[in-house]
Amino acid sequence: MRVLVYGAGQLAQMMYLAGCPLGIDVQAVDVSNDTVVHPVSKQPLDTSLAQAIEAADALTVEFEHVPERLLEQAARSAKLMPSIDAILVGADRVREKRLLDSLQVPNCPHKVISDLSELDECIDLLGDKLIIKASRDGYDGYGQWRLTDTSQLDELKLSLSGLDLKTVPLVVESMLSFDRELSLIGVRGKGGEVKVYPLAENLHHQGQLHVSVAPAPQVSLALQEKAEAIFKTLAEGMDYVGVLAVEMFQCGDELLVNELAPRVHNSGHWTLSGADISQFENHLRAVAGLPLGDTAAIGPSAMINVIGCSSFSRDLLSIPGCHLHWYGKSVRDKRKMGHINLVAKSYAGLGEKMHTLSQYLPLEFFPKLVNEAQRLS
Ligand code: ATP
Ligand code: MG
Ligand code: MG
Repeated sequence: MRVLVYGAGQLAQMMYLAGCPLGIDVQAVDVSNDTVVHPVSKQPLDTSLAQAIEAADALTVEFEHVPERLLEQAARSAKLMPSIDAILVGADRVREKRLLDSLQVPNCPHKVISDLSELDECIDLLGDKLIIKASRDGYDGYGQWRLTDTSQLDELKLSLSGLDLKTVPLVVESMLSFDRELSLIGVRGKGGEVKVYPLAENLHHQGQLHVSVAPAPQVSLALQEKAEAIFKTLAEGMDYVGVLAVEMFQCGDELLVNELAPRVHNSGHWTLSGADISQFENHLRAVAGLPLGDTAAIGPSAMINVIGCSSFSRDLLSIPGCHLHWYGKSVRDKRKMGHINLVAKSYAGLGEKMHTLSQYLPLEFFPKLVNEAQRLS
């Protein structure tokens, strides 16, 4: 069994590692030059892309921003999972909002604009605090602008004036004051079987995910069920196969969907040690047509992203239940270098482990860690 993954970053690497015990061979495509590479060493393999597509049993993606010509080629093989339409929904915020609205899934009040003169209307419609998002190619908060006061409107228009909105429109959203950010990772098999993990709570800093805690503390059964119902509506609505991540804002008892990722997701990395079967294995099982694995949490877990730094003592591995996943990339500012998973028996125990972990790490790179440790313990 072989799976070809478009994208050759850490998500492809973790899918490769999950495939090893199952005898599923994972190859990766470096989409910057159409070469097929080993997902860990990134060394080119002795095959062309066309040959690799032919030899694979399933094709999938590790990120949604794969050039459309490659997605179309992949779709022609009839082996691409999830479908090209589902991937494009994740890659294009206009399609994403259209899907959410057509399936009546609650999401942020928004308006799509293809001319800056429409911004004034947005203020009337959506309020004077707005988040403006490029409809394509945004991630980690890049491709976003904020309006927090109408006096900034002219300045904002000036900074957006270089964009070609006829080709890439903007999605304008009300800036919500939500209680917290949650995500639901779930998986749907070829036969329509669905399994979902418990909700994770996600802590961001400057638009980037820093810490996830799963199961998210203080989630009522009703809220988890609401999230699961949203997942099922979306996955069935797209006839989805594989892992799908749904980012949501919690406002009281309500969940508003922020965005979808048609793939394994950073906020699901905790499943590598906090669940019986990880999101990576479940994604492979789904696209390979195998039975899906258990998604229940083993105990409270935390996932801590290591961003922009590589020098810290590996003695942190002495903490029981601590796992390091290193991606093997050169250090760059704001680059995700690896992540650390912690599993405990209670939230208080998890908080204590996070506190111990903080003593091994350069805290300027981990702005959320100490507060979260205190909150949990
Ligand atoms: P990702 O790396 O998750 O793909 P992204 O660049 O695609 O990020 P979003 O997830 O849409 O962008 O936004 C990044 C963060 O900005 C969100 O996690 C949230 O903290 C904040 N944000 C986004 N939209 C809104 C909104 N309408 N109101 C308030 N905050 C928002
Ligand atoms: Mg995004
Ligand atoms: Mg997001």
